[in-house]
Amino acid sequence: MAKFSIDLQAGNVKEDEAVSSRGQLIVGIDLGTTNSLVAHVADGRAIAVAGEDGKNVLVPSIVHFTEDGDILVGDEAREKLLTAPERTIYSVKRLLGKSYGDLKKFSERFGYRIIDEDEDRLVKIAVPGADGKDRYYSPIELSGHILRHLKQRIEAELGQEVSRAVITVPAYFNDAQRQATRDAGKLAGLDVLRIVNEPTASSLAYGIGLKETDEGRTIAVYDLGGGTFDVSILRIEQGIFEVLSTNGDTFLGGDDLDQAIVDHWTKEQQLELNSAEERGAIRLEAERAKKALSTEEVYRSEDGKFSLDRTTAENLFAPLVERTLASCARAMKDADLTPEDIDHVIMVGGSTRVPLIKQRVGDFFGKAVNDSLDPDQVVALGAAIQADVLAGNQKDVLLLDITPLSLGIETVGGLMDPIIARNSKVPTRVGRKYTTSMDGQKNLKVAVYQGERDMVADNRKLGEFILSDIPPMPAGIPQIEIQFYLDADGILRVKAMEHRSGQSQSVTIKSQYGITEEEMAEMLLDSLANAEGDMAARALVEARNEANNVLLSTKKFLEQNQSWLSEDQVQAIEREALKLAKAVAGTDKDAINQALQELNDFTTPLAHEALDRNVAAAMKGSSATELDE
Ligand code: AMP
Repeated sequence: MAKFSIDLQAGNVKEDEAVSSRGQLIVGIDLGTTNSLVAHVADGRAIAVAGEDGKNVLVPSIVHFTEDGDILVGDEAREKLLTAPERTIYSVKRLLGKSYGDLKKFSERFGYRIIDEDEDRLVKIAVPGADGKDRYYSPIELSGHILRHLKQRIEAELGQEVSRAVITVPAYFNDAQRQATRDAGKLAGLDVLRIVNEPTASSLAYGIGLKETDEGRTIAVYDLGGGTFDVSILRIEQGIFEVLSTNGDTFLGGDDLDQAIVDHWTKEQQLELNSAEERGAIRLEAERAKKALSTEEVYRSEDGKFSLDRTTAENLFAPLVERTLASCARAMKDADLTPEDIDHVIMVGGSTRVPLIKQRVGDFFGKAVNDSLDPDQVVALGAAIQADVLAGNQKDVLLLDITPLSLGIETVGGLMDPIIARNSKVPTRVGRKYTTSMDGQKNLKVAVYQGERDMVADNRKLGEFILSDIPPMPAGIPQIEIQFYLDADGILRVKAMEHRSGQSQSVTIKSQYGITEEEMAEMLLDSLANAEGDMAARALVEARNEANNVLLSTKKFLEQNQSWLSEDQVQAIEREALKLAKAVAGTDKDAINQALQELNDFTTPLAHEALDRNVAAAMKGSSATELDE
């Protein structure tokens, strides 16, 4: 069921409580679609950290699983993209917090296999192992590997352990995607102090919004990377950043500029590109030309086969640039602003090095753009500055009040479902929809917990109540909304309401009551120490819950379709279901997922047939009545 959240604008502004961590190192991380990087503040300056070569600060956001079970991240993983695409995972950020239903349209764009057991569940990626069996990875685990690599990189650079970070996400990321990012950090052994919007970080990198100013500022952040385009309009007033609007295109970026050059050359020279190698080589040449033309007027390839001048390139790029400006216009309209209202325009992403882009964006907003920082590093540098503020190193900066521990409820299998994430601004109100898991269920227990562990048993129980008198309905039909409202004093009000019947029930809890700073710190450390085990436990419970649902619907399916299913089909379904039931009794989540996939593979065509038969029967029914009349 769709989740939604409403964030009330933060009301009270006061100096952050995080002063207790003054002087400690907190790093900033840009977890990007194509590249990721880590930065920190040293001697008052934000700097991005390079790898062993001392030069390259960008880590390709790619994870490769070797046949021997080793994990490679970054440049080493990128080398495997062509030779072992099914074990080399890129663009993980596009999958974070997404279900297969969200991604179906794009799944053929990926060189690896996304499993499609159920449209409403979060995706997993199947990677073939040496033993012929698939291993299943969630985007959270994969992002966790990238974050761990960045953690190790900065630890090697600084010669000290790093355990706290600020991580950036796109402004349009929803609750599930933000939570997934947090969980990835936790898996990498990082306490994620804050999730910051990328455009907010970019503004901070340019020093915008760091000081309390009397009048507010309105900022446009134009972010064109390798494969995605975002524009965000922000308003900053007295230390509070508010996202007024966002727009963009999730499949538009520097790759498309490269493709425009490739198309031009193939047409000009009437080339036929027959192999993947040929196509790969000409794309690389096109990217080289594009980059060169950002500073030169003409480009000629080393072998002299290809050449391009800047004017021709600009004509090729123009339609793509205009598409980004159309997005900017939509964002401005949504924010109800005109270009004169914009005080600063910030350029982010490697593709904004193209002079035509700087010029057209400047023309659009009618002012010079901010482009003095390296556009690949802006977000990470801003994240590092935010981290430095949190560490208490920047005295006269205002920060918002935040809630120190997550608040959530217990869901099926004893899992903690955090509704208000730790470090959320307060006051805040978040609503989420749930439904029943049993047919005719009349009561729903709402048990409220506080803490960072994945199983509620490891968290602190704050209270519980029962939403009763839900009218009997099949499982999954009732629409129960649970709302958490946390006020500035840490008082939590929880309300549950069944929309179809209007039944509602609520409770008020003092969430911070009776918990000391030490206990809080202990709870956080505990969650870090147990992150890996917790994630494994959660993955197992989730796989089991899903398997149980599928087993239940398989049973119903057999009952409802016994009239036409053959004896062989019934036996085969029962055999697969039994395999799944056995796997559920065990503790291997990969085995459960595998059995689930096999049962689904077998039953999906039969389910389609059942549907066709129902439709045919219904059609017959209606034509029969028509004849009678
Ligand atoms: P990002 O995802 O922000 O790292 O952006 C990477 C994109 O920036 C790729 O499409 C690169 O080809 C592009 N890029 C990097 N340097 C330049 C340059 N000097 N001129 C034009 N595009 C560039």
